[in-house]
Amino acid sequence: MKVLEFKNVNLTYFSSLGETPAIKNLSFSVEDGEFISIVGPSGCGKTTILSLISGLIKPTSGTVLINNTEVDTSHTGYMFQKDHLFEWRNILKNVCLGLEIQKRSNANTKEYANNLLKKYGLWDFRNKYPHELSGGMRQRVALIRTLAMNPKILLLDEPFSALDYQTRLNVCDDVHQIIKSEKKTAILVTHDISEAISMSDKIIVLSKRPATVKSVYSLDLKDYGAPLQRRESPDFSKIFDKIWKELQEDEK
Ligand code: ADP
Ligand code: MG
Repeated sequence: MKVLEFKNVNLTYFSSLGETPAIKNLSFSVEDGEFISIVGPSGCGKTTILSLISGLIKPTSGTVLINNTEVDTSHTGYMFQKDHLFEWRNILKNVCLGLEIQKRSNANTKEYANNLLKKYGLWDFRNKYPHELSGGMRQRVALIRTLAMNPKILLLDEPFSALDYQTRLNVCDDVHQIIKSEKKTAILVTHDISEAISMSDKIIVLSKRPATVKSVYSLDLKDYGAPLQRRESPDFSKIFDKIWKELQEDEK
């Protein structure tokens, strides 16, 4: 089932300095439960695409549909480079913050949040504060906080780029496993081609600004296991080379 669809979407930013066309004639769709990565040159319009999916900005023309209806802000959850945890709230209170803000805190939603903490090894840390956790663990808390809102689609905007390389590899595995076992649809924006290949079912390669779809790769590396193991597969380096070359073309 199609959960997200972009149909001929254009987005131009208008400011006193002039017009900036950020997205041009963009069309693609995402199936329920798919893990999609979007890669493209810096400044090409990736974050803009996520803002359109979240309903924070509206297309200049074209349509963005979630479950066949026009987007509003209720369908998505965000995960950023910074975990945005509040240092003065313990882990449980951080995880429940979104529910409180949206006035959706009740016995059911709280139980759901508690279960997520239990399922993903954070229950014993519920009374700890963010500074007592490692960077990788903090990102897991940030993900659980987003999942506690039960969004249809998870938007991940370069969420691992602040982590050191070793942690990053582990957090990729961690986040991927949680998203897959919760059967969520996820859209990851990243600079890192290896990260995209290791985590995704599909990769959308964008042109330089204004972003349009340059190519789409459907991947099937599931049999190799978790993202870290997928990096060892023979297909991995072939796909890497292809995408690398495509992105290089736009650097010229
Ligand atoms: P990416 O995430 O791929 O680096 P963005 O989507 O953030 O790119 O930005 C795409 C282009 O649109 C950039 O040239 C950026 O400067 C411009 N842009 C982004 N947001 C705004 C805004 N609010 N007003 C004007 N221009 C913007
Ligand atoms: Mg960006």
